[in-house]
Amino acid sequence: MTAGAGEVLSFDIPSVDRGEVLRYLGHAGQEVDPALEGRIDADVERCIAVSRPAGVVRIFECAEAGEKDGRFVGRLEGTALELPGESMRAYLAGARAVGVLAVTLGMANERELRRLSLTSRVDELIFDAASSALVERAADAAEARVVREAAERGLYTNYRFSPGYGDLPLSVQPTLLATLDAQRRLGIALSSTQLMTPTKSVTALVGLYGAPQERTRLSCKGCICHDFCLLRPTGRTCYGKRH
Ligand code: SF4
Repeated sequence: MTAGAGEVLSFDIPSVDRGEVLRYLGHAGQEVDPALEGRIDADVERCIAVSRPAGVVRIFECAEAGEKDGRFVGRLEGTALELPGESMRAYLAGARAVGVLAVTLGMANERELRRLSLTSRVDELIFDAASSALVERAADAAEARVVREAAERGLYTNYRFSPGYGDLPLSVQPTLLATLDAQRRLGIALSSTQLMTPTKSVTALVGLYGAPQERTRLSCKGCICHDFCLLRPTGRTCYGKRH
């Protein structure tokens, strides 16, 4: 049984944090001169102007897990997805369902990245960092959809888990994207090495559990989904208290 229509969602993300962009640039807290600050702000603005953050989110019930070649394999009902490895064994322990999501900034972002690679190495790096920060914000917005669905079912979510983390291999990407029909809906294509185009795309899983998990949110303070939360505006929270 599946829930979530899997329609294409557009996310309105008006800003990204300059500190996040600096972090992606490898900045370690040293002083940033005003000229660089101005350049970062201009590239962030350009990134927001050209990007079209969009995503698809679907929720699938967990099916009985199995083993393949002596390795744990998690499965989701109604899908061909196989989620192998010890990371998935731990992550899916106690999960009732899993939110599967893909988000992207779109081809205009990709074209701008390529254009900057020919015109300015500095702007290319800053734009790339801004785009990395922006696509993670899009993933936060998609995760907020899973959190709402979990709350409506009386379930709790865990942190987001992407292929390539732990021992979950990138080889799950083709089936994951096919499960969401992400190539047709979002225009995400995969290379032979499982890298996505547009490069600023993210796929992830979000587990839904009957009991709070170690990293289940206990407060709205510092929540990555805060700006996109669909519960707080209605006076509810994902951790069972009224806001
Ligand atoms: S903002 Fe609060 S209610 Fe919304 S997802 Fe975050 S912790 Fe849950």
